[in-house]
Amino acid sequence: MAISVFDLFKIGVGPSSSHTVGPMRAGALFVQGLRERGDLAQVRRIEVRLYGSLSATGVGHGTDNATIMGLMGEWPDAIDPTQIAPRIAQLRETNVLQLDSQLPIEFVWARDMLLLDENLPYHPNAMTLVAEGEAGELHRDTYYSVGGGFVVDAAQAASGVLDADQTVLPYDFNSAAELLRLCKQNDLRVSQLMMANEKVWRSEAEIRAGLLKLWQAMQECVNNGLKYEGTLPGGLNVRRRAAKLHRSLQELGKPNVIGSTMSAMEWVNLFALAVNEENAAGGRMVTAPTNGAAGIIPAVLHYYMRFSDVVDESNVVDFFLGAAAVGILCKKNASISGAEVGCQGEVGSACAMAAAGLAEVLGATPAQLENAAEIALEHNLGLTCDPVGGLVQVPCIERNAIAAVKAINAVQMALRGDGEHFISLDQVIRTMRDTGADMHDKYKETSRGGLAVSAIEC
Ligand code: SF4
Repeated sequence: MAISVFDLFKIGVGPSSSHTVGPMRAGALFVQGLRERGDLAQVRRIEVRLYGSLSATGVGHGTDNATIMGLMGEWPDAIDPTQIAPRIAQLRETNVLQLDSQLPIEFVWARDMLLLDENLPYHPNAMTLVAEGEAGELHRDTYYSVGGGFVVDAAQAASGVLDADQTVLPYDFNSAAELLRLCKQNDLRVSQLMMANEKVWRSEAEIRAGLLKLWQAMQECVNNGLKYEGTLPGGLNVRRRAAKLHRSLQELGKPNVIGSTMSAMEWVNLFALAVNEENAAGGRMVTAPTNGAAGIIPAVLHYYMRFSDVVDESNVVDFFLGAAAVGILCKKNASISGAEVGCQGEVGSACAMAAAGLAEVLGATPAQLENAAEIALEHNLGLTCDPVGGLVQVPCIERNAIAAVKAINAVQMALRGDGEHFISLDQVIRTMRDTGADMHDKYKETSRGGLAVSAIEC
């Protein structure tokens, strides 16, 4: 399986990569298939069946709405997030779905949007889409949203190929040990090795431009998050805090050096809160590597870019590439999906990726980078996914701020050493996988355990 940095970082919409971005992609892929097979004009009815975690927490995550937008032909990286609510409201009022934005068909929400208390094989985030014509069923397909906005269809899942990209990379690695060996043998930094791999898909100029576009989107997301106040949607009445905190910090003034001051950590908190509040509000996002954990990497990158003395765009590129190397290891050897392994796979992976990115731009050796990622991930092991009300708000928003600070601390500790350490990153990733396998389903994005239950009981 070949994974690109652009698979791990994608422009999309909130609040969830697996429950919003993935389902929208699934809907759009289904319609694309109907169009390509010449079936589109014959469709008279569409049925959406949501299973497992998509059903359990799908309404809170906007899975139903996102799937419909996909069926309207919208893609997560291009849709205007502000248009989702009015278009859904219109559909519900008229019972008319504009399939692929061109074919009006009847869609009765209560009849055609089914939230089923069942699981399908292969993955807990599953959905089946059925298209019917005058004479009966035209086509159906099942999709699995496997985390981070990745979607595979039933055929890919059945063949065991959960990622279709079998591209051969010049420096392919399946473990941190292999990554370190390749860096040493070829005298490469982690970002240099990653750039060589990425050039299989795109030119260096395209890679740099694409990564800077992601950085731009992250900055816009933070700025939007600092603009809005009030409560977040969904009914929990969670107040947005970033705008107020921003005003307080501006009064204090920014710390003048990158360092371990308390006030610098407050800015890190601020960047993460801004992103995750914007995500919870369904705004424009960069999935990094999921939406629930999307605040950690931008918070650490903002911290570095704003408070370092000498920075330029090449640092942004190197940060993303260093972070992606660790994201690839987490995805290949465990999971970045909360529905599969709990929050350790989302926030834990993002924390380790942020640590790797920061270590890379601070000049860490590959061994120190691996150490930083290992420390960051190790101290997220066992973290469950228990969002209150199925919304990506509590504990998700604060959890990102805490993890961003943890990533910075992990880098500080790793840079004080020479890369030698007791537990390897590979061992920690394996532990995350095994812990996730042992974790009860109620702690894996079903909102049936943990805080999700305690908060309701109180
Ligand atoms: S608890 Fe963690 S994994 Fe679960 S929705 Fe929140 S951020 Fe995602």
